[in-house]
Parts: sequence; C-alpha cells; structure tokens
Amino acid sequence: MSEDCIFCKIASGLLPCSKVYEDEHVLSFLDIAPISLGHTLIIPKDHYERFEECPQDVAANLAKCIGKIAKAVLNIVDAQDYNLLNNNGSSAGQVVGHVHFHIIPRHRDDGLLGRWPASEMPKEKLEELASRIFQSIE
Ligand code: AMP
Ligand code: ZN
Repeated sequence: MSEDCIFCKIASGLLPCSKVYEDEHVLSFLDIAPISLGHTLIIPKDHYERFEECPQDVAANLAKCIGKIAKAVLNIVDAQDYNLLNNNGSSAGQVVGHVHFHIIPRHRDDGLLGRWPASEMPKEKLEELASRIFQSIE
C-alpha cells in the first residue's frame, strides 16, 4: 500500500467506494465523477503506478475480469458499446497514480470522446519506426 494513494485507501477499506466487483487481487467500483452512466474503474489491489510496472500476474488478473465487468455494466445501463481506457502518466491524463482501467459505456451519437486528431505518415517512416521499436522490446 502506498501511504497517500487514494485507490490504496479504497482497496484497503479505509475509504468507501461504490463497489461492483471484488476478488482476491482486483477491485472494481463506480467512478465518482462519471463521464457516462455506469463509468466504472478497475484496479489491482496492490499499488503500481503505471501499467508497464505491473508484473505479469497482476496484469493477467486485471485482464481476466475486465470483460465480464464490462458486460455486466453495459447490460445494467443498457449501453451498446464502451471505451476501455488506461492513462499512464500526467501527459496522458493520469490523475490518480495507481493503475486503473476505465470502462466508459457509450451510446450511439452520445458525442463523448470524439476521434483523436490523427494524421497520415509516409510508409517508410512507419517501417523505420516499427523496426526500431521491434528491436528494442525486451
Ligand atoms: P485518471 O485521469 O485516469 O487518473 O482517472 C482517475 C479517475 O478516478 C477520475 O475519473 C476520477 O473521477 C476518479 N476518482 C477519483 N477519486 C475517486 C474516488 N474516491 N472514487 C471513485 N472514483 C474516483
Ligand atoms: Zn495505490
């Protein structure tokens, strides 16, 4: 547990949450300031700040339950689709420094979270970048 981490406090029961799922390793609860009805967070009970810091078993335990939680959330709030979001670092919008996944229920034409500003890149540049990343993965 990290001393001043709000999600560690929730995981250990020191702070309340609107719980939707719990097992030995994972806790899931409603976001206190939802983007849409049913906006849900999923966290490992152990403290890791960023996704790439999670050991494989921690990541696997999260992955195991995300799908079934999403399915239940969509069913209950009668949504068609959802975004699964995980922010890592402040530049990426992470505010709470304890790994978490957002499930954000979506409805057709709800106007939330529009497309990001994408632009095309020449094929050679893509190939060169991909090759450098490929070679650097441990
Ligand atoms: P992020 O920007 O990915 O770090 O998202 C953090 C999320 O945690 C935000 O959507 C907040 O609304 C949510 N949040 C912060 N404190 C609480 C809390 N005590 N209970 C539930 N959700 C929270
Ligand atoms: Zn924490």
